[in-house]
Amino acid sequence: MAYSYEAPVSQSLFDRASVVTPGGVNSPVRAFRAVGGTPRFMVSGTGPYLTDADDREYVDLVCSWGPMILGHSHPEVIAAVQEAVSRGTSFGTPGEGEVALAEEIVARIEPVEQVRLVSSGTEATMSAIRLARGFTGRAKVVKFAGCYHGHVDALLAAAGSGVATFGLPDTPGVTGATAGDTVVLPYNDLDAVRAAFAAHPGEIACVITEASPGNMGVVPPADGFNAGLKELCAANGALYISDEVMTGFRTSKAGWYGVDGVRPDLMTFGKVMGGGFPAAAFGGRGDVMAHLAPAGPVYQAGTLSGNPVATAAGLAQLRLLDDAAYAKIDAVSAELRSLVGDALTKEGVAHTVSAASNMFSVFFTDRPVRNYDDAKKQDVFRFTAFFHSMLEQGVYLPPSAFESWFVSTAHDERAVERIAAALPAAARAASEATA
Ligand code: PLP
Repeated sequence: MAYSYEAPVSQSLFDRASVVTPGGVNSPVRAFRAVGGTPRFMVSGTGPYLTDADDREYVDLVCSWGPMILGHSHPEVIAAVQEAVSRGTSFGTPGEGEVALAEEIVARIEPVEQVRLVSSGTEATMSAIRLARGFTGRAKVVKFAGCYHGHVDALLAAAGSGVATFGLPDTPGVTGATAGDTVVLPYNDLDAVRAAFAAHPGEIACVITEASPGNMGVVPPADGFNAGLKELCAANGALYISDEVMTGFRTSKAGWYGVDGVRPDLMTFGKVMGGGFPAAAFGGRGDVMAHLAPAGPVYQAGTLSGNPVATAAGLAQLRLLDDAAYAKIDAVSAELRSLVGDALTKEGVAHTVSAASNMFSVFFTDRPVRNYDDAKKQDVFRFTAFFHSMLEQGVYLPPSAFESWFVSTAHDERAVERIAAALPAAARAASEATA
């Protein structure tokens, strides 16, 4: 596919980056390999807009893959960061900021009795499954195809996100011994979970699932799926781990738990709770968390865990996320979903706009998408054409058909109008695209 627009400064930065960094990026999906073309090197962000190194402005529908729920450079978050930075950047000791952030999480999310702060979602899920194994004395972990839980060795099997984008079956470097304890099942299939428990009696430490998946595109749990998982785990002595790294503090004040009310044993968080800084967490039942060092024997640690600048940013962001903020995000998301759907319908493009609260994505198929296999059957080449048309017109979408779109409280009428103006040409490009 040829692109009629250019990004010379981004291209020269990408050329430099490719010399010193594998593939030119520090996280694979950023490289645009799924859609082709030059990844945009961003230099600043304000509200719903990003500006790239070629001085082009975009309405941002990625929001740093979720964290920037108040938009970029929110003045109160920036002020909190500046205040924290003025007192120093890391002490390697306990500090009040991390207590306050933990208290905010515990106050918002009722099943979380205790929480441990870490620096990335990957660390959170890795630590949660270690704790589940330590607590139960069992080895096996059940996960679902298309769910992404970070690049934890044991959880990379049939993962979503970049693994889905690049169609990787698994990844070299993960040993058979590590992956051998991972049981991968189709999403939204309780019979498969029942069968796994029957096939491995007394061996399954935990079932980990995205609370509502956003890494194979947005594929919400079918009615009763999460409740069924919880029930099967409880009946079989396994822990139910709900990964809310993406949905946490986004899909409601209490994340996806606030939507479906199914009570996990352990939960993981990241993205929004860091306010754009590396802060993440795992937490849950007090009796399980008590097994964590130094209270208990399961080891887990981090030099920068609970970093004072990151916790200040996260706390400032969470405190601004009140009911009015979620109502605003939900309304913008609903408006965009209907605008996108209408534009594609008008051009006769087969599609499904799939939503879970305010997270959404577009599958270029009109067949129902309930799991990863369904998601892979879409016309990805139509997404590619749609993506590039939107980019050319100044709208920044996730550069993959298998990622959620994100909006923020800063997406105002002007931003929505700019997206609306770009949609007809993008829908036409999708309709005219060929495989
Ligand atoms: N879990 C989920 C559901 C995610 O979406 C992600 C990242 O996208 C992770 C875990 C990993 O988080 P991080 O990229 O901070 O390591």
